[in-house]
Amino acid sequence: MFKVEELLRPNIRQLVPYSSARDEFKGEAQVFLDANENSLGSPLTRWYNRYPDPLQAKVKQALSQIKGVPPEHIFLGNGSDECIDILFRAFCNPGKDNVIINPPTYGMYEVSAHINDIEVRRAVLQDDFQLDLVHLENLVDENTKIIWICSPNNPTANSMNREDVEIVLNNFAGLVVVDEAYINFSRHKSFIQELKDYPNLVVLQTLSKAWGLAGLRLGMAFASTAIIDVYNKVKPPYNISQATQELVLQALGEVEQVNEMIRILVSQREQLAKDLAALPLVSKIYHSDANFLLVKVSDARRVYDYLLEQGIVVRDRSKVELCEGCLRITVGTERENKDLIASLKQFLS
Ligand SMILES: *Cc1c(COP(=O)(O)O)cnc(C)c1O
Repeated sequence: MFKVEELLRPNIRQLVPYSSARDEFKGEAQVFLDANENSLGSPLTRWYNRYPDPLQAKVKQALSQIKGVPPEHIFLGNGSDECIDILFRAFCNPGKDNVIINPPTYGMYEVSAHINDIEVRRAVLQDDFQLDLVHLENLVDENTKIIWICSPNNPTANSMNREDVEIVLNNFAGLVVVDEAYINFSRHKSFIQELKDYPNLVVLQTLSKAWGLAGLRLGMAFASTAIIDVYNKVKPPYNISQATQELVLQALGEVEQVNEMIRILVSQREQLAKDLAALPLVSKIYHSDANFLLVKVSDARRVYDYLLEQGIVVRDRSKVELCEGCLRITVGTERENKDLIASLKQFLS
């Protein structure tokens, strides 16, 4: 039986959370003199002189409709980065506990672990970029609190086999985080509908990629109410600004526009893959379930430097394990992709 209480750090179990003015009084009133705000207003026309809703009820309601998950199973963070960091702070005892990552993968799991003085154990992916379950299992001990799975994975662009993720969920006694930042570009099913079956599951998503809102900083964690309660207890009281809440609410009304962008980006991804494959300097293009391609080229560093001279910046992943000789290229607009291909053709001559 999985019990969130038993996995928590003792100091978090005993924590009396901060109680903000907006927590203590939630109703309507004529005069608000409870939060030391500036009653005169602000230089802006909106009501930015008031503190925002600490639990973002309206945004969660709208997200709940789109995702088909009740609001009490949703936590909103200042980017996924906050959703990641809070799990370390709530569940991992510094200097004692460990977590497992599956490299090559998103760098923030490791950075956040190190900030929190948590040991990171590495179950490197297999050559086909799938989970190495045997290695994973061997790394688990009684101090292993979290297993981080990124699917579709950054920078390898593939999705993890669903059965493998289910095996981890069914056999690991700690938290299993499935980071689905790129799920909208994939044909694979999200794990977001499996929360009922897995009390140890945390699904991360973000508005930074498919939704095109990286600048607003909104990350989402979907989990059991017990885990969401922990998130809410540990988070800074007003972690999502009023401006972000208003703009996100407006954007969430435009699902069709976002779906259209996803369709375009996926079709551009396929076109870009085809065009790249025709270039002699490209030796391999890995299958992508994301909005980027992992591309193996001859002499990656020279190609990277050359593109930079042409004003095009890609990500050099050539020194990353299993990604030797690879560049990570984000799918751009049709124009940008054409410019990239044109530049690479020049490199040949
Ligand atoms: C881009 C990305 C994110 C998004 O992070 P935000 O802080 O929400 O912008 C999360 N996870 C992975 C794997 C990513 O590549």
